[in-house]
Amino acid sequence: MPEELDPFKIAQEQLDTAAAVMNLDRQAHAILRQPMQTVTVNIPVKMRNGATKTFTGFRVLYNNARGPGKGGIRFHPQESIETVKALSAWMTWKCSLANIPYGGAKGGVICDPKSMNPQELENLSRAYIRALGQFIGPDVDVPAPDVYTTPQIMAWMMDEYSKLKGHNEFGVITGKPVEVWGSEGRFDSTAMGGMYVMREAAKMLKLNIKKSKVAIQGFGNAGAFAFELAAKLGAKVVATSDSHGGVYSSKGLDFEKLKEAKEKTGSVVTYKGGEKITNEELLELDDIDVLIPAALENQITTTNADKIRAKLVLELANGPVTPEADKILFERKVLDLPDFLVNSGGVIVSYFEWAQNRQGYYWTQEEVYKRLDTIITKSFTDTIDAQKKYAQAGKKISPRTAAYVIAVSRVANAMKARGWY
Ligand code: GLU
Repeated sequence: MPEELDPFKIAQEQLDTAAAVMNLDRQAHAILRQPMQTVTVNIPVKMRNGATKTFTGFRVLYNNARGPGKGGIRFHPQESIETVKALSAWMTWKCSLANIPYGGAKGGVICDPKSMNPQELENLSRAYIRALGQFIGPDVDVPAPDVYTTPQIMAWMMDEYSKLKGHNEFGVITGKPVEVWGSEGRFDSTAMGGMYVMREAAKMLKLNIKKSKVAIQGFGNAGAFAFELAAKLGAKVVATSDSHGGVYSSKGLDFEKLKEAKEKTGSVVTYKGGEKITNEELLELDDIDVLIPAALENQITTTNADKIRAKLVLELANGPVTPEADKILFERKVLDLPDFLVNSGGVIVSYFEWAQNRQGYYWTQEEVYKRLDTIITKSFTDTIDAQKKYAQAGKKISPRTAAYVIAVSRVANAMKARGWY
């Protein structure tokens, strides 16, 4: 049978695995296998040549038993409803594992933001909110940035929603610029959370970060900040990439020069001082200790899982490892920590932003990082403890399944308490 690459089927398969391990109630399982609400909109947008172009957008509310929907909006040419459904399920488990008061949701628009100018992006962002205004809100569903969406886009969206309501509604969306009450520390929070997890995992594996070599696939919202932070911790980042390809140097890459290459030429491949490699080669490098996939889904599959040489894989992207590859890594004793643990720093600080907006009382960056550290370190320890508990009972489960068991049981218990089954 060919390997399953449909992200939503993958999300369901991961849930089924956890459900079997934890003997999940059959009715709760049935509710949790499907999103509660799926909305598709076709949005007319005025383009720079004066013509109107129609874009298709989605917003999926997966589950709201524990609180309003929460999750980013992606602008991507290959966006699909199946991917958005999967991502909304993963957001549900992410918020539950972090134990923050949200359900899960996700949005997306099929578009190529790289070919659009700022005016077109603004028109699209505002039109998306006008089309979906009744399905979002601070107590309903709270969007945020994701692949190819930015704080500026969040500011336009918040502004449009506020206009619809006739008053400022800062808490409708997170990941805003600080000028319009985004949170301090939100910009690099996904990467910062990933680094706290790396610190804990390294302790467990007795890996000295200062002597470690790291490869990061992706140089976007998550990858570029992870690069900067890992380098600050003393790790040597030897490879990175973007959609055009990657660069490698065993001596380590220079962050500032990479940023400059990316800004000037649109890609890290033009960086001087390293050799060009492909995205596939980056994953299989044999002299690295830590591998951080920070780009898109389905990067580590049955075709390359047995070629991964890193001891630790930190899934900073959503869905980078397929279930089959997950099994291979687990059997090979590679510590592969799941996306909804590793990259939860983004939504955790989104929660802080939303809480600050609702209180109208703002925290310092130090406070934000400290509270993020407490929450994500607890998620890591809870996951490893659950894995150990099952191992003692004779069930060998991966960190992903252990994290699922925690997250799913919280959502199932909330649904039970509410009388949904
Ligand atoms: N897009 C990020 C994620 O996938 C952040 C979501 C949020 O802050 O709501 O976790």
